Amino acid sequence: MNKAVFLDRDGTINVDKNYLYKIDDWEFIDGVVEGLQILQNLGYKLIVISNQSGIARGYYTEKDANKVFEYMTNELKKNGVIIEKSYYCPHIGDKCNCRKPKLGLFYQAQKEFDIDFSKSFAIGDKLRDVLICKKEPVKGFLLDTNIEVDNKNIQKCKNLYEAANLIEKG
Ligand SMILES: [Mg+2]
Ligand SMILES: [Zn+2]
Repeated sequence: MNKAVFLDRDGTINVDKNYLYKIDDWEFIDGVVEGLQILQNLGYKLIVISNQSGIARGYYTEKDANKVFEYMTNELKKNGVIIEKSYYCPHIGDKCNCRKPKLGLFYQAQKEFDIDFSKSFAIGDKLRDVLICKKEPVKGFLLDTNIEVDNKNIQKCKNLYEAANLIEKG
C-alpha cells in the first residue's frame, strides 16, 4: 500500500483568487514547490482534491478547469514534483458525493492508488479539506486560519511548506 498527501488546490497550492480559471491568474503560494519536494522525497504520493463549483455556476467550463490543472501539473513537473492525479468536483450543493466535505473523491483516490489512510495526510485551507480526519485515520493540517479545531488529528499551521516540515519532523 502507498501513503499519500491529499492536497486542496486553491488557497493551498495557489493563491485563492475566487473561481480562478485563467492560467494568467495562477500564482503559487511561497514555499509550495519546496514543500511538495519534501513530501515527495518522504515517499508520499501527491494527490489534489478540489471543489470547482465555478463549473456548475457557469463561471467556467470543465475544459477551462482541466487547462489550469494541466498547467499546475506541468509547472510542478519542471521542478521535479509529480502530482499523481487531480480530482475535482464540478458541482454545487450537497447532492453529489464528491464535493468536499463529502469524501467521495478521497475514496476514489484511495482505491485507484491503493492508499493506506493511516499513513496519509490531508492539507487544506478550509475545514472541509481536512474533515476526512474525523472519519478515517488520516492526519490533517489546516492552513492559515483562526478557527477553533477540536480534533486531535487536525493541527493548524501557516502554509503547506510549514506542514511539510512538520510531517518531515514526524
Ligand atoms: Mg482552498
Ligand atoms: Zn460533486
